[in-house]
Amino acid sequence: MEKQFKTIQESEVLLSELMLPSNSNFRGNVHGGYVLSLMDKIAFACASKHSKQYCVTASVDTVDFMNPIGIGELLTMKASINYVGKSSMVVGIRVESENIRTGEKKHCNSSYFTMVAKDENGNSAIVPGLILITENEKRRFIKCAHRLEAKKAKTKQFSKTDFDSAKYTEEFKQYNVQILA
Ligand code: GDP
Repeated sequence: MEKQFKTIQESEVLLSELMLPSNSNFRGNVHGGYVLSLMDKIAFACASKHSKQYCVTASVDTVDFMNPIGIGELLTMKASINYVGKSSMVVGIRVESENIRTGEKKHCNSSYFTMVAKDENGNSAIVPGLILITENEKRRFIKCAHRLEAKKAKTKQFSKTDFDSAKYTEEFKQYNVQILA
């Protein structure tokens, strides 16, 4: 079968939802876990659209909640594929909230979900490649490729078998820890 390529636009997903009192935490803002579950859903929708398969979440690259989201605000999520491997896809998601009356917008977080496509037997399925058109699409692809390389290098550096804590004696001193033994 000839290798297939698809544009990023074909699988873009947008979601807007009004934040209701039932979504609130004990401080009266939106519960972070609720936002995470919406992000997981939009990542699934985007990856499934690109791959035409059911997808599972493999990892999430940092979710830093930069601004609290208030009840009554309109939450908007924009998702698009940043990168594809053989059967994996990285979906970038930008989360913003908007005050309905003033129209003021806040950037709440930007996160990157790695999703894996599965076939009907539960095996990893090959996904279409990407057609990169805009400068932003090319920037996001390369940025993601570098992030994945850096993650691989970090995992290697701190592998359970190679780690020697004696090398970090000085470094530990700057942290809020006591080293026993
Ligand atoms: P960036 O990743 O460096 O571009 O950081 P941003 O905070 O601008 O966006 C985070 C991610 O959200 C991007 O990587 C995109 O995947 C997604 N995104 C941002 N803006 C849009 C948009 O206008 N439409 C769609 N579909 N996705 C967007």
